[in-house]
Amino acid sequence: MLAATQPLTPTLESARRVLKQYYGYDQFRPMQQDIIQSILSGQDTVVLMPTGGGKSVCFQVPAMVQEGVCVVVSPLIALMKDQVEALKANGISAACINSSIGQAEQSSIGRACQAGMLKLLYVSPEKLLSEGFLSFLHRLKVSMFAIDEAHCISSWGHDFRPEYTQLRVLREQFPEVPIIALTATADRLTQRDIQQQLRLTEPKVFLSSFDRPNLSLSVRPGQDRVNSVVNFLKTHENEAGIVYCLSRKQCETLAGKLKEKGIRAGFYHAGMTDRSRSDVQEQFLRDDLQVICATVAFGMGIDKSNVRWVLHYNLPKNIEGYYQEIGRAGRDGAPAEAVLFYSYADVAQLRDMITKDADPRLAQLNSTKLERMQQFAEAASCRRRILLAYFGEVLEKDCGNCDICRNPPSTFDGTELAQKALSAVARTREAAPLSVICDVLLGRRNQGVISRGYDQIKTFGAGADLSFLDWQSYLHQLLNDGLLYIAYEQGYALKLTDLGWQVLKGERKQALKQFQVPQKAEKAPKGRAAKAATGQRLPSIADELFDRLRQLRKQIADEQGVPPYVVFSDATLQEMAIERPRTRTAMLAVSGVGMKKFETYGERFIDLITQHAGAPSPDDVPDVPSDEDDTPAPAKKRSPGTPSGTALDSWKMHRQGLSVEQVAEQRGLAVSTIKSHLEALYERGYQLRTEEFISQDDYARIKTAVQELGPDFRLRDLFDHLREQYDYFQLRVALTYDKRLRGELPNQPPVE
Ligand code: ADP
Ligand code: ZN
Repeated sequence: MLAATQPLTPTLESARRVLKQYYGYDQFRPMQQDIIQSILSGQDTVVLMPTGGGKSVCFQVPAMVQEGVCVVVSPLIALMKDQVEALKANGISAACINSSIGQAEQSSIGRACQAGMLKLLYVSPEKLLSEGFLSFLHRLKVSMFAIDEAHCISSWGHDFRPEYTQLRVLREQFPEVPIIALTATADRLTQRDIQQQLRLTEPKVFLSSFDRPNLSLSVRPGQDRVNSVVNFLKTHENEAGIVYCLSRKQCETLAGKLKEKGIRAGFYHAGMTDRSRSDVQEQFLRDDLQVICATVAFGMGIDKSNVRWVLHYNLPKNIEGYYQEIGRAGRDGAPAEAVLFYSYADVAQLRDMITKDADPRLAQLNSTKLERMQQFAEAASCRRRILLAYFGEVLEKDCGNCDICRNPPSTFDGTELAQKALSAVARTREAAPLSVICDVLLGRRNQGVISRGYDQIKTFGAGADLSFLDWQSYLHQLLNDGLLYIAYEQGYALKLTDLGWQVLKGERKQALKQFQVPQKAEKAPKGRAAKAATGQRLPSIADELFDRLRQLRKQIADEQGVPPYVVFSDATLQEMAIERPRTRTAMLAVSGVGMKKFETYGERFIDLITQHAGAPSPDDVPDVPSDEDDTPAPAKKRSPGTPSGTALDSWKMHRQGLSVEQVAEQRGLAVSTIKSHLEALYERGYQLRTEEFISQDDYARIKTAVQELGPDFRLRDLFDHLREQYDYFQLRVALTYDKRLRGELPNQPPVE
């Protein structure tokens, strides 16, 4: 393949060229660039980045520009297969070796490695540590080891893999080869374990923000869940998603109910045969199933980037798990939703399960974690801040993309109360757990307090005017807001963060909220709120062209036997739907369209976009004169999906004075569809009542913006430049108006 034939000097510049040529991306994300620089300098590197943050690029691109093969250790066969498929689709030579690969194929992969034909070799930890494999590696030039899902090394974590702890042999046997460890888990203990166990030498650690701004968060009461799910799906047609359930039975029942409603749903849990599990997974990956009802057994090996939503049918056991599960939505960066159904019954059930654990230490750890999960569900402050605070990250502002931000409860200046609590934490020398701090504030002289002399400190009894529940709630808020954290490994002691010290010293104010349980389901946001809800950063993907691009993607994916998101991500299709590239250059400028993909199927997407823009086709022209004629036109053969005739129908209704919304209503079509009809005809010379969409002032403003942007701007840039004042339809109309003025587009419909 292309990769092996082009040795490149490993510089950031060559890395950037690889990114463009193979991945179709113009730029590294900020942290990717620093990470790649570190790797290229031969340093051990630890990368902590959320799911969807772009970890793969961090080692794949350096692997491409360095001599030799990069050995990637990955814990799951499905995940490896997926990554290798995605690499190949981009024209990069990669392979995987694990227990599912036959001997003959393994030998041929081995030969390819020796011949320097492979840039990336994925192996399971078992395979890596197996007889003879390390000596095989000694015969190769290994550029680096990339340890994916590195948190599996930590026995504190939720995905502990004993084999991972033996990976230290890599450092012992290959002292010269740099190691890069990557994970989407960021807690302190895991991070420490990774560095120690892999024997990393002064690694550079990159802790990226764990924020996923494209993911909208909300919690709904857990009543009438089936109907809630059904209603949710009505507004998410054709969008793939996962419903996480607590029990196997529930997965099956829910999937059954959804199927009765005509939804393409399946279920997945650990009680199924391997065969049926992989079948279901495969159907989901290929967009043949829209919904998977699953236990937490589902997902770790899933690279599907076009999961648009994740529902939690039940409360998860802890925030780590929750964050990982919701992280499976929107990996491509396009807007996605996470909805959690919450009821006390779930808490009780989970607590029951947890306290049954034979190991009392573990039972206590897990029940503390469950409490934090419960606090999240009951929270009265920005949910994203809570999540990020849990992972030690402080978000300066509320997010605007969670249910609390959209529907905020009232707050009061809680600085003084916060200071009392923080001071109690400081004066107990940050050694007491939450319940003891409450006792200290309340002035309770019980064993835990007296034995440690806490009844002697200044804050003892400073909060006796409030109840235990009040203090508990305020302490939870301080934890959630990142003023305190829990040191699990030190008897659950509460400790102050920098932010906590600032509030304690009076350098910062702290707002507090009265505890509230969410009572009723949030109303679906409309208009302005809906815009905020889907994240200002990205436009809506409800668009006729987008749907057609998605259909073409599915068709190509089936022909090639790969999942649709391997062909192009939703984010890439979305950009195509906005920019509508009709030339090779324009298509290659779309983020996510690299050389190989362009060569393989770029033309087909260009054809579709051209067809979409070029309505009507000659076949349909007789429709115009037969305007007054009531006899139905004979059925004509059209190229599939050509909007032509139907576009003309919309246009005629528009000419008769109907608004876009009225046309949509009468025709039973989406407003976005009508708009795309009108745009297409306007470009072809048909007249529109443009003043209805943009005024002369608007036009002048848009034109100025165009001049400010200079040549070769993308529509998306124009949209951003104008601070999202105009939608894409208005921008397109203005641009076409301009081109018509300048004679670049016709002012008359074609005479055919
Ligand atoms: P992770 O492994 O951290 O979960 P991925 O490597 O799968 O994340 O990347 C998430 C998505 O972001 C993928 O669709 C990927 O192609 C895309 N991506 C990665 N780097 C960039 C970049 N520099 N520009 C645009 N998209 C990127
Ligand atoms: Zn928020």
